[in-house]
Amino acid sequence: MMKANDPTLKSWITIDKNSDFPIQNLPFGIFKTASLKPRVGVAIGDQVLDLVAVSKLGYFNNLRFDTQVFAKEHLNDFIALGQPLWRSVREKISDLLDASKEELRDNPEAQKKVLIPMSEVQMLLPVKIGDYTDFYSSLDHATNMGKMFRDPANALLPNWKHIPVGYHGRASSIAVSGTNFHRPKGQTKAADAELPVFGPCKLLDFELETAFIIGKPTQPGETVSIPKADDHIFGMVLFNDWSARDIQSWEYVPLGPFLGKSFASTMSPWVVTLDALKPFRVEGYKQEPKVLPYLEYLGKKNVDINLEVYLQPKDGEPFKLCTSNYKYMYWTMEQQLVHHTSNGCNINIGDVMASGTISGPEEGSFGSMMELSWKGTKPIRLPDGSERKFIQDGDTLIIKGFAKKNSTRIGFGECISTVLPAL
Ligand code: MN
Repeated sequence: MMKANDPTLKSWITIDKNSDFPIQNLPFGIFKTASLKPRVGVAIGDQVLDLVAVSKLGYFNNLRFDTQVFAKEHLNDFIALGQPLWRSVREKISDLLDASKEELRDNPEAQKKVLIPMSEVQMLLPVKIGDYTDFYSSLDHATNMGKMFRDPANALLPNWKHIPVGYHGRASSIAVSGTNFHRPKGQTKAADAELPVFGPCKLLDFELETAFIIGKPTQPGETVSIPKADDHIFGMVLFNDWSARDIQSWEYVPLGPFLGKSFASTMSPWVVTLDALKPFRVEGYKQEPKVLPYLEYLGKKNVDINLEVYLQPKDGEPFKLCTSNYKYMYWTMEQQLVHHTSNGCNINIGDVMASGTISGPEEGSFGSMMELSWKGTKPIRLPDGSERKFIQDGDTLIIKGFAKKNSTRIGFGECISTVLPAL
């Protein structure tokens, strides 16, 4: 077990037992304040540890690296220093916050310099994203979509259990949690109409997803193997892959999603490291038929992450739309990454690879309005008496996620965004 993951560790900082950020988590993010420029921070309880300030006090001196990587607007330069260094930095931070270690615990002057209340920081997009890929790897989601749009008897297309299906998305419109966006406009065609029309999207949807962030690049022609896949993953975030269903359904044949997806995606600001998630690994689905050898894996490669989505109408209270879990993924992150590089396509630090909508087997665990309202045939009634088939202007969507095992609970914070009227 990694020392920083020890469930018996306690911090000298008071941390609520339901906090997403106990000492066993230590996720990395980029923040700024009214007086501080963008920089790398680590979440601990309801505070942020400023790694520029920690460096200035010399606490990282023994690790011998260029601490200027912490005074950057993105995590990419820190990530580029490599997995052994991310681990050493996380271990050192764990020691500094450990209640049994005096170094920072007994130095109130230093504490004042390195800790900032979370309420005083603004979180920024954690990585500079070169490329974004979205997969389609939840069995129940793919089955539901197939039932609604094609043939209930043959819901899954013939390739689905052989290939982690995906498409190349748009990186420019991925924004950090808290960034609102305007309802997209586009070309749509009603089923009974002869010709398409152009206008604001009528069937705006969310997609409950997570994403992993590439931590180690490859060269063109190179393929990542399953045993090496985890070395290329820095960590995970929550992800809302906003979707315009009416634009999507008209445009997607034959080349797949385009403008129905590219207008906005929302990402949570704290990157939870793959290292911190290690204790929450669980068995994945039994993959039948057997996958091709390059996709075969051994061991516990799924992750038990509880996921929740809330809809908050304008001037209303948040209402829980669904409860799902990352463990409902049929294809693992490692398989997705291996398949992605199997043709020799190179990957870069900061690339984002999203899971695809994560739906579970029960109705309350579906990860999109499309499934929750079953294509609009079963409207969802909100506490204020209004109904939703899809997302309305002024609605705020909130995704939360946490992994829990025995007394250890590590979370992702929130992924929030509000839909503004079309421009
Ligand atoms: Mn998606």
